Amino acid sequence: MYLLKMAKRLLLETDKRLLWKLAWNMGFKGMLSVEKHKRRLKRGEVFPPFLYVSIINSCNLRCQGCWVDVAAKQQIIAPEALHQLIREAKTMGNVFFGIVGGEPFLHPHLLDILAEHPDCYFQIFTNGQFIRSETAQRMRQLGNVTPLISIEGNEIVSDQRRGRPGVFSKSMQGLQNCLKHKVFTGVCTSLCQTNIDDLLTENWLDRLIDMGVMYAWYHVYRPMGPDANPQLCLTPEQQLRARRFVVEMRAKKPILIIDAYYDGEGRALCPAATGISHHINPWGGIEPCPIVQFTKESIHASQADSRSLRDKFVQSEFLRDFRALAQATTRGCIVLERPDLLKQLVEKHGAQDATVRGTALAELEVMQPRTSQYNPGQEIPEKNWLYRLAKRYWFNDFGVYHNHDHAFNREP
Ligand code: SF4
Repeated sequence: MYLLKMAKRLLLETDKRLLWKLAWNMGFKGMLSVEKHKRRLKRGEVFPPFLYVSIINSCNLRCQGCWVDVAAKQQIIAPEALHQLIREAKTMGNVFFGIVGGEPFLHPHLLDILAEHPDCYFQIFTNGQFIRSETAQRMRQLGNVTPLISIEGNEIVSDQRRGRPGVFSKSMQGLQNCLKHKVFTGVCTSLCQTNIDDLLTENWLDRLIDMGVMYAWYHVYRPMGPDANPQLCLTPEQQLRARRFVVEMRAKKPILIIDAYYDGEGRALCPAATGISHHINPWGGIEPCPIVQFTKESIHASQADSRSLRDKFVQSEFLRDFRALAQATTRGCIVLERPDLLKQLVEKHGAQDATVRGTALAELEVMQPRTSQYNPGQEIPEKNWLYRLAKRYWFNDFGVYHNHDHAFNREP
């Protein structure tokens, strides 16, 4: 029943041309890009099919616990460098790009750049506040963009978490603008102590469905950066509750729900450890993932390094060792569980601190080990067969954890 409702919503509530772009670019070609990744893995080569690119460090908000240097001097990835990155990734079969920040809509050329790649699909992680009616209209016209707007709590919590008054209503206005123009739009939330009871609820999902939102993505707050807020972290029980909620709602509500941390059988995984995704920062540094702010390679060509993007990824010893260490340590998040091992790895490779503040290593040193999505014995398999099937083929651990017993290696 919910599947029929979902199909009806997709057909009636989004622009058909956008739906076709989504199905073709993201669905069909995205699937092929993962198949290519699987073939590369068999040859021992890792080039992530899903690249996340932080195109700017600046942001108009000051969210609690943000690890990006949003108040530092503005740094953007210039249009030509971004075009080059996308072109080179395309030669590897990539079609999907996650556009992150900072606030991506502060990048002066964002949509113009995306317009030049109609054969790709872009997901923009945004606070939504710069999405005016004309911006949404432009996204509709482009068709290869989905905004993912972050809502971090109800009116009160949102303003407190995001460091400004009126954040909730401004983000909601941006969201409404997207929906008014029938853009395929998602809402994401970084779950933490102050929003889990409001947003991890059927009421909230129903409200999103009523508004016309097509997908939701629940992240879990991770205490990183110079002003980490460990008191906001979810307890292991709450993390399990979040997983259970997602699985149940996927089999019940006509809204898509994304997650990046479990396979179809409910076993935890780390997308950086599987190599399905890595991150590029606004300075062009290649990082294992957005919260691991250390780098050895840059997308920018220099006299010292004129290799292709492919070679930079495939030959990176830092990335390779990061994945091997993460795989051998846990199916969950190595940063949360074993910051000490990550620090050793960074030191061994002499990886550069990619932050402006220059304190990333010291932050890692004082991090308290915590539990992550890995919760052996408590796996909750997908109930919705569509998710189960899709994950079986295109989103799983790709066998990278096969010969490790992780349970013995969990205590620092
Ligand atoms: S290292 Fe942790 S935060 Fe980074 S991708 Fe893996 S699980 Fe996510």
